[in-house]
Parts: sequence; C-alpha cells; structure tokens
Amino acid sequence: MFAEIRERVPIAQAAQDYGVQLGRGGMAHCPFHGTDQHPSMKLYPNGFKCFTCNEHGDVTDLVAKLRGLPPVDAARELNNRYCLGLTIGQAATPQERAQQRLEAEKRRKRRELTQAFKEWEVHAWRVLSEYYRSLTRWKEQYAPQTLEELNSPSVFYLEANKKEYIAYLLDILDGDSQMQKVRLFQTHRDEVRNFEQRLQKL
Ligand SMILES: [Zn+2]
Repeated sequence: MFAEIRERVPIAQAAQDYGVQLGRGGMAHCPFHGTDQHPSMKLYPNGFKCFTCNEHGDVTDLVAKLRGLPPVDAARELNNRYCLGLTIGQAATPQERAQQRLEAEKRRKRRELTQAFKEWEVHAWRVLSEYYRSLTRWKEQYAPQTLEELNSPSVFYLEANKKEYIAYLLDILDGDSQMQKVRLFQTHRDEVRNFEQRLQKL
C-alpha cells in the first residue's frame, strides 16, 4: 500500500500541496527544523531527506510528519486527497461505523459537559460568595418588625439561616476534590441559579 502511494503520488506535488516551499533543483525548504533559509531538503523520486536535520522518508512519511498523523492515517488521507481508490487497512462494517459514530457522539458530549462545568465553576463561586455576603445584611434588613411579619417572615430573612450551608458549598468549590465539584455541578445547578435570581431581584 505504501509502495503504491509512493508510485502514484509525486512527492514534489504532495510537498507543494501540503505547503512545503520548493527551491531549485529538487531542493525544498525543510519544514521540520527551525527557519530553513537555504533549502536543505532534497526531494527524490521516491522520498525526501533533509541534510540539516536528517528527517527522511517517502511521501507518506512526509505527510505523516507534516500532519502529525500515524503513517496509516496519512496513507488514508493521501488516498482520499488524490483519489487513489486504495483499500487502506480493513474496511469498517456498518456495525463498526455505527459504533464509531456512537463513540464520537459520546466524546462530543463529554467535551461539552466539561466545558459547561468549567464555566459553571467560576460563575457559581461568584454567585455563592455574593450570596454569602448578602445573608448577613438580610438578617438585619429583613428582620420582622411586626407580628404579621413575624408570622410570615421575608424570604430574605429566612435565607439568612443558610450561611453555614453556603459556606459549605463554597468550601467544596474552593477544595481540591474535582469529583466533589463535578457532583456539586450535577446536583446544585438549579439551586445556584435560584440564588442568582434572588440576588438579581434585589
Ligand atoms: Zn530539516
């Protein structure tokens, strides 16, 4: 398979297509070591070699190194890009493809959840800190003055009793246990949102 690619994809063509700058006489600016002002990579019909950093290989190796891919994936890419129509590795069965899609979907969801958690973590800490500071004020500000108020105290006055609880939540967010934080994210998102809304209503 690699031999066939070597035969069918001219390395100079591929090098150019992948952004390697060609110089004169089959020489090219090597993309693998620092600035290569004088082209020090030689392109042969069957491969390349850099006389400065000693990188070498065939067209698949070149693309694999340029793209940071395993050779078999580079071969797959060349196969597609140059319409070679080769069978690279084993063709996936429909079941395997379905499985791959499922796994890709799982990875995507996990990434989204991680991102949502990171954003929430910072935000929740701000909300809870502000909430905690407000509780002391509310205790005095909303203390019942009349018998009627005593019978149905303001929600803000009642919240003032939550100081310890809020401190406990803040402790988790300040702590080292990522697991506890994630669990907090899963179970307390709505509650933190309620706190936030209450703060906004003031
Ligand atoms: Zn080089």
